[in-house]
Amino acid sequence: MKAVVIRAHGGPEVLRLEEMADPVPGPGEVLVRVRACALNHLDLWTRGGLPGRTVAFPHVLGNDVAGEVAALESPIEGLFVGQRVMLQPGTSCGRCRECLAGEDSSCRQYRILGYQIHGGYAELVRCPASNVIPLPDGIGFEEAAAFPLVFLTAWRMLVTRARVRLGEDVLVWAAGSGVGMAAVQVAKLFGARVIATAGTDAKLERARQLGADEVVNHRTADVVAEVRRLTGRKGVDVVVEHVGEATWERSILALAHRGRLVTCGATTGPNGKTELRYVFSKQLTLMGSYMGSKSELLEAAPHFFARRLRTVVHATLPLAEARRAHETMEASAHFGKIVLRA
Ligand SMILES: [Zn+2]
Repeated sequence: MKAVVIRAHGGPEVLRLEEMADPVPGPGEVLVRVRACALNHLDLWTRGGLPGRTVAFPHVLGNDVAGEVAALESPIEGLFVGQRVMLQPGTSCGRCRECLAGEDSSCRQYRILGYQIHGGYAELVRCPASNVIPLPDGIGFEEAAAFPLVFLTAWRMLVTRARVRLGEDVLVWAAGSGVGMAAVQVAKLFGARVIATAGTDAKLERARQLGADEVVNHRTADVVAEVRRLTGRKGVDVVVEHVGEATWERSILALAHRGRLVTCGATTGPNGKTELRYVFSKQLTLMGSYMGSKSELLEAAPHFFARRLRTVVHATLPLAEARRAHETMEASAHFGKIVLRA
């Protein structure tokens, strides 16, 4: 098969289209012909190298896959060759206490496609059958590939962790990012009022189209002051954090009394400043969230299939142009997902 392979950490230039042996599905596994694979920030981190994380080279990136079942190691009820599917990005042992409690992403053997194991920048990928989600007719491969990782992340953050409720005010940073656009929609689905930020007026307009009630330009406006103005000085009940160092302090200042901050990432750096006096006097809750469980994605998926949640695809490029896709993502000029077509 053809695959975009990295043999060393580095810039986009380390992405090389190569011929590679076809993966062979093991017991309980499925071989999937990749039709579309969406990019995530995790691809950039994995390509560039993360401290303390080792990648076995050659490595194939790509967390978010949609395609067709190409082969099954043995017959599995409900799955057949040619079936249109999308894949859960996380694999886990399925037997430990965490897995059985539905806390897959806390399993000691939790592995993400394209991060710790080979992913979808290829014509074929293998994964456990439990990661396969059949696609209804009418859902395209490209829009499906753009769904799993960011909606799983946003669903766990808002629904499972922050327990967002009808009528609450939710601040979503960087609504043009994958997690941001998912979070805007999930918060709206649960009846929240969403204040979304973005760095350009064009992105703010797109955020409104996704359902954001209020939008704030985080490059030109004082986000905390705007939040206070828009909430009658109360602050927001929930902040969706994924930016990190650049926004963390403002996220805490934007919270209402007993507000909840939920974070899934630190794109701009891991050392946010926390004024502890605010944490106790306003009785804040700060919580982390990492990926999500298979059941959470199965909870979210029907809303996508019914078009209550929408993916936004910024651009689709052929697999051979993975390098250009990474450069586009690094330039941060996109709104929505960048998808590779295999
Ligand atoms: Zn487990």
